[in-house]
Amino acid sequence: MNSAPRSVRPHIALLGRCNVGKSTLINALSGQNIALVSPVSGTTTDPVYKSMELLPFGPVVLVDTAGLDDNSILGRARVKLTARALRKAELALLVVDSLPLLPIEQETLTDLCRRQIPYLVVFNSRDSDIDELPQDFSLVNAYSGLGIPALKKTIAAKLTAVVVEPPLIADRLHGNGAVILVVPIDKAAPKGRLILPQMQVLRDILDAGHQAMVCRETELHLALNALSGRPQLVITDSQVFQMVADAIPSDVPLTSFSIIMARHKGSLPALSAATAALAGIQAHDKILIAEACTHHSQDEDIGRIKIPSILRRQAGGELDFTWVSGQEFPDELDYKLIVHCGACMITRKEMLSRLAQASEAGIPMINYGLLLAYYSGILERSLQPFQNT
Ligand code: SF4
Repeated sequence: MNSAPRSVRPHIALLGRCNVGKSTLINALSGQNIALVSPVSGTTTDPVYKSMELLPFGPVVLVDTAGLDDNSILGRARVKLTARALRKAELALLVVDSLPLLPIEQETLTDLCRRQIPYLVVFNSRDSDIDELPQDFSLVNAYSGLGIPALKKTIAAKLTAVVVEPPLIADRLHGNGAVILVVPIDKAAPKGRLILPQMQVLRDILDAGHQAMVCRETELHLALNALSGRPQLVITDSQVFQMVADAIPSDVPLTSFSIIMARHKGSLPALSAATAALAGIQAHDKILIAEACTHHSQDEDIGRIKIPSILRRQAGGELDFTWVSGQEFPDELDYKLIVHCGACMITRKEMLSRLAQASEAGIPMINYGLLLAYYSGILERSLQPFQNT
């Protein structure tokens, strides 16, 4: 079953020159005809994403990319898209069909090392009788399926070694009391379901054998009264941080879904250190607001309305905002501050790449929950549950 969302699946990017058989290899690995296969160079334009179960590792996404040597004008744009696909890749497969490696293939390996992306070199040949293949190359015939089961095992072992999944919240739960989750059901809430961070956190608490009580902010007092003891932790949507902080005893630990995601999807130390930059925001500064999904903007939208109003108020004047959403993230960064959402719809690798890009450009990057905690005066309290991690 391919039910895991793409944002929690490690991505494997397949790279190679035109016509080395990347698309055929994707089809062979996934057992499905998903990538367009043709002898015409440049058949793959935008990266093609294919979700599959890679046993014994688990759910992954295979990413088919354009040919490395496609030099047409359109091809250069395609190569840029490939570079973007690499931002989310936990592992790359360089597919080759001849030896020695060509300069463009050597350059690709150098680029992967620079980006710190682990890789495997896959020699795809219709001829299984190859002399002197380097020891760490995998030999397959993607057209006949020869070598595919062994390659799957090699990929699974490599992913097991390189994919790190930081905890959500269960490692911070040591008490007996229930955890209260405060979930506003406003106009922005999706119909009939909770959003991904809320579901993931709830499941994490239950998996760890703790009890959870879920309520809206308007029923928080009823939830508190219904408990026989104190909650061991309250986790709230950042939008009602202040209201929740005021409603619960000051010594009850409190944090937000967004701060939990900052640790799980990115780097809590890096994102929280960027709060220091908030004091220096001045009128006319350029601010990038990045949301990792696309949704219709609502009257009280957090990224479009609430956070910009808070920042304008603090800066004492108008600010120069840029908004990006979904998979979009600028290649060139020229901002005073980047404010990112909780990033539940992109992979951890993509979020870490964005953080690294911001860090290289010397631009502080913070997330919604940390910004709201800072301006609500409860930043220290909301980080307290993660002390000594
Ligand atoms: S805005 Fe960000 S945190 Fe919120 S649902 Fe979309 S991806 Fe997830």
